[in-house]
Amino acid sequence: MDINRVLEDNYRNFGISSDVYELGREAEKALSERFEEIDKLAEINQLKVLSAFRENRVSETDFVKTTGYGYDASGRDKLESVYASVFRGEDALVRAQLISGTHAISTALFGNLRPGDELLCPCGKPYDTLDSIIGLNGAAGSLAEYGVTYRQVDLKDDFGFDYEAIRDAINEKTALVEIQRSRGYAQRPAFSVDEIGELVRFVKSVKPELRVMVDNCYGEFVEDKEPLEVGADIMVGSLIKNPGGGLAPIGGYIVGNSDMVEKSAYRLTAPGLGKEIGANLGVNKDMFQGLFMSSQVVAGAEKGAVFAAFILEKLGFDVSPRPFEGRHDIIQAVNFGAPDGLRAFCEGIQSAAPVDSFVRPVPSDMPGYDSQVIMAAGNFISGASIELSCDGPMRPPYTAFFQGGLTWYHAKTGILTAVQKLFDAGVVCR
Ligand SMILES: *Cc1c(COP(=O)(O)O)cnc(C)c1O
Repeated sequence: MDINRVLEDNYRNFGISSDVYELGREAEKALSERFEEIDKLAEINQLKVLSAFRENRVSETDFVKTTGYGYDASGRDKLESVYASVFRGEDALVRAQLISGTHAISTALFGNLRPGDELLCPCGKPYDTLDSIIGLNGAAGSLAEYGVTYRQVDLKDDFGFDYEAIRDAINEKTALVEIQRSRGYAQRPAFSVDEIGELVRFVKSVKPELRVMVDNCYGEFVEDKEPLEVGADIMVGSLIKNPGGGLAPIGGYIVGNSDMVEKSAYRLTAPGLGKEIGANLGVNKDMFQGLFMSSQVVAGAEKGAVFAAFILEKLGFDVSPRPFEGRHDIIQAVNFGAPDGLRAFCEGIQSAAPVDSFVRPVPSDMPGYDSQVIMAAGNFISGASIELSCDGPMRPPYTAFFQGGLTWYHAKTGILTAVQKLFDAGVVCR
């Protein structure tokens, strides 16, 4: 049996032409060293996670479902100790009761800011869902309503930090600095952990008592270290992204300085109760196992991202990051320059999904966006963007932001299918 032949035949049966298959083969060949590097990083992170499981003596009894108040929920506390070990924090809050990344960020901000304090974002406007938390759009219940003010310093034209303006922005009210590691859905690169470290050192040199929170969404396990290791005080993220490994069905985490974690817990549950209550509702096993799987899942997603970057750049599209550039999150941006490309690409991603492959994504209005948005996702866990997914606003430069893939093979198949759609729709020709 010629295994290459069999593989190609199977792709052909899946709808991939030999031209597109060949593009994929070329990409894999050109990226072999890049893939090796990604695998090594996954190995480093897998060891880090496994060591944390051993140190904390994770046991089958930690998977027992608890209900109600969940007093003495040792599995819940154990999971939090494991997160603290992995991410090098003093303590952690890892809960199904943290509904999403936004909720975790909101909990940490409300928990650690007081009336009269000022929040500083030194990396430009943060992720869209923070608008309402901060109160940029007049939303009820925002930090602004509670007397917490906000200041922002935009990045320079080359996406570097504007240190001079940051120094000027720090004043006697400034209490917390929020740094967003990932590009989110903005036209700027993600920051490396070292760049974050540089910024943390700078703001603390201006005002030593400042606390720094990193929005770590999409960044976990992409590098061999995490923001707490370069001086950030707390770090926040979503369990339906990287660290949930595709298995956690819900949840968020807050990890770092124990006083700040405790204050976040007082906000999540109630003052005085904090981390002491909260049943795990039976999701503990999946949260442990998801964290255990995460390094490998992230590696698969990253391979998918560089694979796509390579092929799409070759086809003439503007991609960010470029295939051989350093990566600091799992998001890949591709500018299609016209609506047809964005639409065809999303259709391809959707049609290669394990769930809802028969659905055709169409652009539609979304609250908070001034243009229509097209989204492709066929998920096991609703909205989980560690699973292969893609979306983009229908406006120039018609950028697709895509991420995820629970396995490298699925990421590859999804991308080849999307590229096939670009050919079939006449967006690119051979
Ligand atoms: C996804 C994301 C969030 C919000 O997380 P949700 O789980 O969607 O609420 C915040 N910041 C960044 C950078 C993100 O990527």
